[in-house]
Amino acid sequence: MADQHDHDHDHSHDHDHAHEETSEPKVVGELPDLTKGTARPITVFGNPVLHREVKTVTEFDAELATLIDDMFVSMYAAEGVGLAANQIGVDAKVFVYDCPDDDGVRHVGHVINPVLEELPAGRRQLDDSAEGCLSVPTAYMELARPDFAAVTGQDKHGNPIRVEGTGFYARCLQHETDHLYGYLYIDRLSKRERKDALKQMAEGTPRYATVAND
Ligand SMILES: [Zn+2]
Repeated sequence: MADQHDHDHDHSHDHDHAHEETSEPKVVGELPDLTKGTARPITVFGNPVLHREVKTVTEFDAELATLIDDMFVSMYAAEGVGLAANQIGVDAKVFVYDCPDDDGVRHVGHVINPVLEELPAGRRQLDDSAEGCLSVPTAYMELARPDFAAVTGQDKHGNPIRVEGTGFYARCLQHETDHLYGYLYIDRLSKRERKDALKQMAEGTPRYATVAND
């Protein structure tokens, strides 16, 4: 995901939790070693790799570890809070994230072969905050999504994992899982809103390297 909402979010928290500003945010997860990865350019709307389900990962090897390293570096270079493998052109179900929740807790990690859990009816509270995507550069649109999400999958060693969260982090987990099944957030908008987002993209210039479409 792009980082626009992140800033808005932090700003609103400044008023409520001004006393927390001096302390480091709590981190859940393992911070990546950024000396290992290489930034790769970001694929954008129209590139076929973004518009179909990508492949399930079956080999939990050094190549996968390198992919995750590259994805973290690419995500930070583009100032995103989440990145799916097909956003750097790789046909594999992997996403990485470094994303705050609504309590200001910073969640960092990766998920292989993610599957979004069906929510019990009682947990379907919708949040309609703005959302952006590195693959739809410079566009932001409000999109209602459940404010809680849980994802099961595997870590880079093949061990089963489950992550869950609220607020912006919940939005991130849903957005990144969608990517790996071929959906962009704009595919969840009305026809008119989708058109508006694509117009914003056409009129803007991304601040990071992208892959040109044919
Ligand atoms: Zn995205």
